Amino acid sequence: MDTKVKGCKELLNEVIDKDLCTLCGACTGGCPYLVPYKGKIVLLDNCTLSEGQCYKYCPRTYTDMDAISQQVFGVPYSEDELGTTKEVLIARSTDAQIKEKAQYGGTVTTLLSLALAEGLIDNAILTRTSEDKTPIAFLAQSAEEVLQGAGSNYMACPILETYNHFLKDSNHSLGIVAMPCQALALTKMKKEPPENRISINNVKLVIGLFCTWALSPDGFYQFLRENLDLPRVTKFDIPPPPANRFDAYTPSGKISFPLEQIRKFTIPTCAYCLDMTSEFADISVGSVEGIEGWNTVIIRTDVGAKLMEMAKAKGKLETDKLPPQNLAHLKEAALLKKKRALKEIIKRSGDKKNLLYVGLSPALADKLLA
Ligand SMILES: Cc1cc2nc3c(=O)[nH]c(=O)nc-3n(C[C@H](O)[C@H](O)[C@H](O)COP(=O)(O)OP(=O)(O)OC[C@H]3O[C@@H](n4cnc5c(N)ncnc54)[C@H](O)[C@@H]3O)c2cc1C
Repeated sequence: MDTKVKGCKELLNEVIDKDLCTLCGACTGGCPYLVPYKGKIVLLDNCTLSEGQCYKYCPRTYTDMDAISQQVFGVPYSEDELGTTKEVLIARSTDAQIKEKAQYGGTVTTLLSLALAEGLIDNAILTRTSEDKTPIAFLAQSAEEVLQGAGSNYMACPILETYNHFLKDSNHSLGIVAMPCQALALTKMKKEPPENRISINNVKLVIGLFCTWALSPDGFYQFLRENLDLPRVTKFDIPPPPANRFDAYTPSGKISFPLEQIRKFTIPTCAYCLDMTSEFADISVGSVEGIEGWNTVIIRTDVGAKLMEMAKAKGKLETDKLPPQNLAHLKEAALLKKKRALKEIIKRSGDKKNLLYVGLSPALADKLLA
């Protein structure tokens, strides 16, 4: 495996042009040459640096999993299907307005609003669905603004560009709602802090979303335009299995598409992603199979635990145990994603010892491949 930090040209040759880019945004905003355009990152001009932050923080360049796990959790990369965890439970908001607008239980929106209200963070970087239904990253400073981001947009959005754009000398603290690839890039930044950007230490909270795959902001958007009267759509949903469909809600009812029709718009890099539950977040949130209107919540760090305790104590979230059969199924799905991704990676590299970007211990790689 190639562990060297390289430059922009190699990022283009090894990641972007090889369909491995996750569109996380870690390489844009910090550099004048790389910009998101029509669902891709494009290079506007040649950069001559032999080592670049764009390459260093990319979640698809070599990542020493033990080292970054040490950075966040103080222990090597966990062998557990869900990564390092303190507690797994279910939760939902107690706020009617949040529940009305949120994707499921509104746990993400509730936790972010609370973190802002309590001064744990001054700003939140999150995603909202714009008028034309494309996802855009934005900064929120109040509960009202956080509410604008409620709901899921299944197209990938380069939100880390917003972190890179943040005023370098600012002492504002930040919370970020991140996909697994974005939480990974942020952890690489924590391990070796970037220069010429707001300090990574200002990122006080990362709320990760579960993710099986994300959709192309180009191809999938064309599909939506051709098949829906987009201005009338109020919400998108991919309900948990066994639903197997993509739903678009409109005032006159729900329009459903078989998931098979949608899956072809998955961004190719998702096939090489091992992480279903945002393993490097402070707290990770997803749906709950068979329990509508609730979220599965994985608490991973002291920061996550403190925020969750505060949400319960202030009556902002209702919580309950995750039924054992749900936990077993979640672990099974997470493990399947790891196994599938490793097999795809080896198919691509042609060598069982070359896991491209994944720096796993050989023992764990063997265990996952067994
Ligand atoms: C691409 C994608 C794939 C997902 N896949 C799964 C899955 O396989 N299994 C599962 O259990 N859950 C998945 N989720 C998470 C799920 O859809 C909910 O976001 C999660 O359960 C939180 O629910 P909530 O009610 O707390 O959300 P809310 O309180 O409504 O908050 C949702 C948050 O998601 C953020 N967000 C919306 N779209 C994006 C985006 N494109 N990129 C980054 N952030 C975004 C919003 O800014 C908001 O803060 C996925 C989400 C996305 C965006």
